[in-house]
Amino acid sequence: MSERKVRVRFAPSPTGALHIGGVRTALYNYLFARQHGGDLIFRIEDTDSNRFVPGAEEYIIESFKWLGINFDEGVSFGGNYGPYRQSERRDIYKKYVQVLLDSGKAYIAFDTPAELEAKRQAVANFQYDASTRLSMRNSLTLPKEEVDALIAEGKQYVVRFKIEPDEDVYVHDIIRGEVVINSSILDDKVLYKSADELPTYHLANIVDDHLMEVSHVIRGEEWLPSAPLHVLLYRAFGWADTMPEFAHLPLLLKPDGNGKLSKRDGDRLGFPVFPLEWHDPKTGEVSSGYRESGYLPEAVINFLALLGWNPGNDQELMSLDELVKLFDLRRCSKAGAKFDFEKGKWFNHEYILHKSNEEVAGLFMPILKEHGIEAPMDKVVIVVGLMKDRVSFIKDLWETCKFFFVAPVEYDEKTRKKRWKEDSPERMLELADVLEALDDFSLEHQEAVVMKWIEDKGYHLGNIMNAFRLTLVGEGKGPHMFDISAVLGKEETLQRIRRAVEVLK
Ligand code: GLU
Repeated sequence: MSERKVRVRFAPSPTGALHIGGVRTALYNYLFARQHGGDLIFRIEDTDSNRFVPGAEEYIIESFKWLGINFDEGVSFGGNYGPYRQSERRDIYKKYVQVLLDSGKAYIAFDTPAELEAKRQAVANFQYDASTRLSMRNSLTLPKEEVDALIAEGKQYVVRFKIEPDEDVYVHDIIRGEVVINSSILDDKVLYKSADELPTYHLANIVDDHLMEVSHVIRGEEWLPSAPLHVLLYRAFGWADTMPEFAHLPLLLKPDGNGKLSKRDGDRLGFPVFPLEWHDPKTGEVSSGYRESGYLPEAVINFLALLGWNPGNDQELMSLDELVKLFDLRRCSKAGAKFDFEKGKWFNHEYILHKSNEEVAGLFMPILKEHGIEAPMDKVVIVVGLMKDRVSFIKDLWETCKFFFVAPVEYDEKTRKKRWKEDSPERMLELADVLEALDDFSLEHQEAVVMKWIEDKGYHLGNIMNAFRLTLVGEGKGPHMFDISAVLGKEETLQRIRRAVEVLK
């Protein structure tokens, strides 16, 4: 079995936007598939028509496109095991439901919702299982002719899995080790409903994993309670030999306190829980996304990869290719992972730093345009090089850098009080003259000449530089002064100095 080809799947239900936890599940499947030269399948589990949300499938596909997670086969990707949308596989499921019925591993039940409710009222902790099924209206208690007649009449029914009681069911989980439960705690799960002629999640999931030759099921911890049932289903079909291996990933926890990460935490603390902005077609509500909030996809990937896994040392920055090499399911934690969104921002900052200035400038250009700035690329590249270490998001470059592109119209009052001395107007006009005389306006040359001028005149270096900064920037912030003046160029620098003197006199 070890030489079996690795085939894994990400199998979302299209019930709304893809939660960030689902993105992590897909990422871990991706890393595992790539690492083993295996296949990653994209399957849509849409057998619960009540929960279907239009647009969700497209949203999920677009999310992975943005993140750079590529699937090998599945909905919208093609492949030899299709169709990959469960609603298009009805006939397949019907056939396998019949297999279970024929072998006596499942039975037909006619109990109406009202009858079931009455039973729940009458019997404390009622569960449809070995201890109660013989007192219910099903193909185990009714004569065959009656069952056939009821079906022929069009009576609605469900097919239930006949779980044998009192058996220890072992689930081998790559992350959690051996998990065991007793089958008596399980109920006879509904596998199929005649009302919509569709299987439930459990049956469709197992049939598809089998037919699609899935080798490993890597999914969220919330599915761990279903795993024993799934093991029993594989056995009932006689597929135990090719049963996939399981790995149930740790929960994502709230950034503060305990409990599962929810959308409300995002709203409350101001971070997205969805990869892309989501417009809920039912409520009209708009939820923020990582993409629209200015995150780089590579930063999101790196951040998510470390939520529940680590490479065994303190390395944090890893490209997708490195992750593929380093990832190890056995190193995933059992304990939940705190969703530290501040760390997500840090990753974004790091990825901005690691990008070339040209690349960052390319991303900043459209933002400059939005603000009506048409700046030459080479200038933007230099500005970005000077300033990118100060931001976590590309869009924040605007506030941080705008003085490179627009001259100050106002001068910060506090800075002015503190830094603009009585002799500043005179000194700045002198400085302007010194700079005007320069043919070479390079950073180095300006710096050498201005420093010498300050020294020769016996001026106070700090006072000159502070006033100079106020004239060019309009406040007390920014990088090295001569970096700024060199980027602005001679003409603009002189204009800004002289205008500031006019205004601040
Ligand atoms: N359709 C399930 C979901 O929405 C899939 C669970 C599984 O991977 O088995 O997560």
